[in-house]
Amino acid sequence: MTTAGLVDGFGRRHTDLRISVTDRCNLRCTYCMPLEVQFKPREELLRFEEIARVTRVAAGLGVRTIRLTGGEPLLRRDLAELVRQLVAVPGIEEVALTTNGLLLAEQAADLRDAGLARLNVSLDSLTAAGFERLARRPGLDRVLAGLEAARSVGFPTIRLNAVSIRGLTEPDVVPLARFCRRHGFHLRFIEFMPLDAEAAWDRGQVLSGAEVRGILEREIGPLVADAGTDPGQPALDYHWSDGGRVGFINPVTRPFCDRCDRVRLTADGQLRNCLFSTVEWDVRGLLRSAVDDARIAAVIRECVAAKRAAHGIDTPAFERPERAMYQIGG
Ligand code: SAM
Ligand code: SF4
Repeated sequence: MTTAGLVDGFGRRHTDLRISVTDRCNLRCTYCMPLEVQFKPREELLRFEEIARVTRVAAGLGVRTIRLTGGEPLLRRDLAELVRQLVAVPGIEEVALTTNGLLLAEQAADLRDAGLARLNVSLDSLTAAGFERLARRPGLDRVLAGLEAARSVGFPTIRLNAVSIRGLTEPDVVPLARFCRRHGFHLRFIEFMPLDAEAAWDRGQVLSGAEVRGILEREIGPLVADAGTDPGQPALDYHWSDGGRVGFINPVTRPFCDRCDRVRLTADGQLRNCLFSTVEWDVRGLLRSAVDDARIAAVIRECVAAKRAAHGIDTPAFERPERAMYQIGG
């Protein structure tokens, strides 16, 4: 198979594949899902062997890292088995997971044994009321137990992701930072993006990374930018000189499209070249007909080649994708 790699029309090389394994979730975060939701029938979701096949083909095209996401990926039965299969794919250097953490206490040891390298846990508030206001279901205690379990089974770096929404999440900024400093978790704040199922997003609700950083510097102390941050990473990372790290992912106020190296596979087998893509490439249909790997490779290439220069959230021409975050995979 060719080694030219997945390079798009703007010279961006794609080495990261984000795979959603389900659209189901045990929370109903306001910024992601609707309260009432109709999930995809099981037979429309890719089976593990289908996901592994796409991963093998993508690895042959230069993909090196995989992130499993959803919906809530820990709701997918035997997820550790999928991790095991993906870790074994030649060329894949790292398999990571993004989870809401509710089922992590039960699964952390199996995931670690299966070879999962990295863990991102999403947590927006450390108070039960704050958690439920955003997640619209209880679960804070289980997330905290999950974090503890993840630590105890030896995950080296555990990241916490928190979404920043003006008028809602400001009171959680400092407690989250203090908690992560105390426990050695790496905290990242993510700007609210127009991917909520209820389409309530408006630009005024975006609490920018710069504003969150201002709150942290005022309340805790000056932040120093990390030297040599990986240019492929979207986050701006900082540390306090007396310990603790914090990062900011600012897709709205500081888009990182020029460095994007990601391609996405939805749980129902559609390839997307951007979170905000309005077009999808069907691989499930190919996987379920008798095509060879070269045909699947051609579709992955086609998807990457069609990538736009930027998502343009902050421009008048911006068009919201039809699918919300839980249906794409964040
Ligand atoms: N359920 C898992 C979780 O919550 O971590 C994985 C899927 S979730 C869609 C992945 C990430 O996307 C989470 O960190 C979540 O906070 C983030 N997210 C969801 N909707 C978002 C939005 N509209 N803007 C910014 N981040 C969002
Ligand atoms: Fe579920 Fe994650 Fe979406 Fe929250 S952000 S509703 S936990 S998929």
